[in-house]
Amino acid sequence: MEFIQDFMQSYANWFYLIGAVLFILTLRGLSGPKTAIAGNRYGMIAMAIAVVTTFFVADHPVVPMIIGAMVLGAVVGIARARTVPMTQMPETVALMHSLVGLAAVLIAIAAILHNNQLNLLFDSNEPALTAAGVEHAHMNKVHLFELFVGCFVGAITFTASVFAYGKLAAKKWAKTIKGGWVKPVQAIIFIAMLVSGFIFFSTGNMQAFWAMTVLALAFGWVWIAPVGGGDMPVVVSLLNSFSGWAAAGIGFTLENNMLIVAGSLVGSSGAILSYIMCKAMNRSIINVLFGGITAGAAVSGDAGEVKQRNYRSGSADDAGFLMSNADSVVIVPGYGMAQGRAQNAVKELANLLKEQGVTVRFAIHPVAGRMPGHMNVLLAEADVAYEDILEMDEINSDFPATDVVLVIGANDVVNPAAKDDPSSPIYGMPILEAHKARTIMVIKRSMATGYAGLDNDLFYNDKTMMIFGDAKKVVEDMTKAINGGGH
Ligand code: NDP
Repeated sequence: MEFIQDFMQSYANWFYLIGAVLFILTLRGLSGPKTAIAGNRYGMIAMAIAVVTTFFVADHPVVPMIIGAMVLGAVVGIARARTVPMTQMPETVALMHSLVGLAAVLIAIAAILHNNQLNLLFDSNEPALTAAGVEHAHMNKVHLFELFVGCFVGAITFTASVFAYGKLAAKKWAKTIKGGWVKPVQAIIFIAMLVSGFIFFSTGNMQAFWAMTVLALAFGWVWIAPVGGGDMPVVVSLLNSFSGWAAAGIGFTLENNMLIVAGSLVGSSGAILSYIMCKAMNRSIINVLFGGITAGAAVSGDAGEVKQRNYRSGSADDAGFLMSNADSVVIVPGYGMAQGRAQNAVKELANLLKEQGVTVRFAIHPVAGRMPGHMNVLLAEADVAYEDILEMDEINSDFPATDVVLVIGANDVVNPAAKDDPSSPIYGMPILEAHKARTIMVIKRSMATGYAGLDNDLFYNDKTMMIFGDAKKVVEDMTKAINGGGH
């Protein structure tokens, strides 16, 4: 046993290095649907190596307590993973980010309280010369700064993610705040937080530390609460990035290289994702975070009916007939497909059309649904071939030559106002140009708006046929109609 202990301690950093390389391979694997499963496997192996190695390098680990916590976490995690419906994934992800933030705060607090390390640093003239001081000589100002950063980034991540969770889950308490007072309040809390942090940093005053933590918790909330509707995707990926930096902060506090590397990978990949999301919505990150609410954006969920205009509606049978006679069909899925759990029915419809010689492809907008990659995940779950799934840039030029575009529960991501109406709050956001297709069919339950709370001219287009109903039911009816039609 002692041999294993010595061996693991001597080679811990090598094991961590292997883990870090595997984490990098994980990210590489996750960048494409075909390699994603292998990517996940690398991640699991890397995590196992990291956890096992850490048991050997930790100073006096309280093994039963750690195992107990791990088992408890695993039970809750597995139960949640098994039961969470796909439609609730975005808020679940936000909730998980909040836990990373909370862990960072608790570890910072524990590190500070542990063995009164602050006293060693501030009360004694020569702390490193006392017996305890030698043991804790590493607790220098640099560490204090890491603690300070880890704690406040963690605290902000925690409350901001809890708010993002509430907003995505349409909880009543997650109210969007607006008004002239918001920015000054944000600024005051932020400055007070920095001042408290500075006092703590220079004097070791614990009151200042608690004040900084509470102010950071408050800041996380008031910072995210004014961010509205359509900007939520960026916030979620940014919080993902923050949770990574908070984890890296914990890594510095605990002097754990693996955690520093893994946290930095999450932090930087989340930052890149935020950038991609911003680009997809034609917004700058500063504008998203400090520009307040996008005008017209709904607080959450779908807004009510909008003013009366003329539109054409048809039946699933008519639509099925038209599609089976088309040469090319492009399916544009949106949040409604997730909401209606229609992905398997959609796949069946697509297969049937293909059997009839129709070219069928799927067009994915980067912010369709309620989380990055939402539609890709659903289509992968339904086993749609990856070659048939095209990103916005790949498909947009094909719409004019497309016979039928079938929009299933998508709204904002096909709203032409983003291109044509400079007064629209989403003006400039790149969209799937479904309006350019020869015939447009839209499945949704009513004329209600989507997440951004905006009316959509596509629904009133002369080429558009609205097919009202729940996505799954309508798609199944279309399949039946085509089958029954004997085309
Ligand atoms: P939208 O929210 O714009 O529209 C979805 C439409 O689906 C609604 O208009 C609704 O109309 C319809 N719908 C809902 N349930 C059903 C159902 N069971 N059957 C049929 N239709 C249904 O979705 P998009 O995907 O087009 O756009 C995503 C929006 O969400 C964007 O504004 C984006 O910014 C935002 N967002 C995206 C996130 C992400 O990471 N992807 C995260 C957070 C927000 P009706 O009620 O009439 O049926």
